[in-house]
Amino acid sequence: MRIHRGKEFEAVIKKAESDLRRLLSISDDFSVLFLQGGATSQFAAVPLNLCNPEDTADYIVTGSWSDKSFKEAQKFCKPNLTWSGKSDKYTNILPFDEIQQNPDAKYLHICANETIHGVEFKNYPKPKNNSSILVADMSSNFCSKPVDVSKFGLIYAGAQKNVGPSGVTIAIIRRDLLGHAQPDHPLFEDLLDQGGLVAIAQNNAKKAGLLYEAIDGSRGFYVCPVEKSVRSFMNVPFTLQRSELEKKFIEEAAKERMVQLKGHRSVGGVRASIYNAMPLAGVEKLVSFMKDFQARHP
Ligand code: PMP
Repeated sequence: MRIHRGKEFEAVIKKAESDLRRLLSISDDFSVLFLQGGATSQFAAVPLNLCNPEDTADYIVTGSWSDKSFKEAQKFCKPNLTWSGKSDKYTNILPFDEIQQNPDAKYLHICANETIHGVEFKNYPKPKNNSSILVADMSSNFCSKPVDVSKFGLIYAGAQKNVGPSGVTIAIIRRDLLGHAQPDHPLFEDLLDQGGLVAIAQNNAKKAGLLYEAIDGSRGFYVCPVEKSVRSFMNVPFTLQRSELEKKFIEEAAKERMVQLKGHRSVGGVRASIYNAMPLAGVEKLVSFMKDFQARHP
C-alpha cells in the first residue's frame, strides 16, 4: 500500500518512532506501529492477527480491562481463562508458577497495569510453550519504567495516559508475527456478501420507509420535521406531539433493549439511527413499540 503523506508528517512520525525505540531499547526485530481506534480495538486485533478462530490463547484476568480483552477475544478465537482475580475483587496476582497455562495457547495475554483496580505486574510470566508469545496491554503504564521488550511478542498501549494525545495506539510487535491476520476482517466483505451497495441501499430504504410510514401514519402522535424529499435513511429524528411523553417513550424503549433513541442534545426529541448494522427486524420492533405506545396514550 502506498501512503501519501506530507514530508513534515513523515519527519514527525519517524522521529516519534526513533525516540520510542531509544526509550525502550526496541531492537530491529520489532515493528513499531502507530494505530487508530484506541487500545480497545486491540482487544479484537490481537486474536485477529495472532491466531485462527479455532486456536486457543491464554488470558490472565487481573481486573476490568483484561476481563474486557478476554471477552472480546471470544468473538475471534477460543480464549482460555487461565486465571482470574475476580473472587479476590481483583486485588492480587497469583504466583506465576501456579498459573495453569494451556500447552496449545498461541499467546498469553496480560494487562500489565489494571487502571481501575490498581494491580500492576512487577515482572512478567513466561508462556510455557516455546512457540507461544507474551502479549501485554500496557495502556496505563506504558513508558512509565524501562521494560525488556524482547520478552514480549506484542505490547500495545493507548498513548493518552503517559505519552501523548488520545486516539493514538502504539503497538510494538515482533516482525515475524506480522502478516498472518485472519482473512475474516470485519470490514467490507460483509457488505459485499450482502449483495453490494445497491442491495444495501434497498434494505436501508425499506427500513427507513417503515419508520417514516409509522410516523406519518400516526395521525400526528409522532412528527418528523424533515421535508419528505430529503429525509435521511440513516438517522430518523422525530418528536412526540405531546413532548411530555418523550422521556417515558425513551425509557420504555430502553427497557425493551432499544437504546440510544434520545435525540442529540442540540435538537432534542427522538432519533433512531438505523445504520447498515441495524437489521430490518430491529426497525420492525421499534415500529411495533411505537404503535403500542401510542395505543397506550390515547
Ligand atoms: N486498557 C487499559 C489498561 C486501559 O486503561 C484503557 C483505558 N482506560 C483501555 C485499555 C482502553 O483504551 P482506549 O480508551 O484507548 O480504547
